[in-house]
Amino acid sequence: MLKVACPKCHYEPMSKDRWMCSCGHVWHTFDTLGQCPACGLIWFDTACPHCQQWSRHSQWYYWQPPARILVARLALPAPQQFLRLSYRS
Ligand SMILES: [Zn+2]
Ligand SMILES: [Zn+2]
Repeated sequence: MLKVACPKCHYEPMSKDRWMCSCGHVWHTFDTLGQCPACGLIWFDTACPHCQQWSRHSQWYYWQPPARILVARLALPAPQQFLRLSYRS
């Protein structure tokens, strides 16, 4: 599950939150991955509506794997088994 939260204060942006571009356009920046829909400017940093601090836009995204993916990872063969397979020929 993809989660969006401020890297500084962990505030999670709500759909009613709005950001303003230098061109004056106001929109929800996480709908467009930080790109202004009016003038096309890409905002690499995003200000938090809660703590007002700037963070890299990409740092706002957190990937939370569901529990069953973690279980599948544990079931993978150990690294030694990979080694043995690659030296067979
Ligand atoms: Zn703009
Ligand atoms: Zn914040």
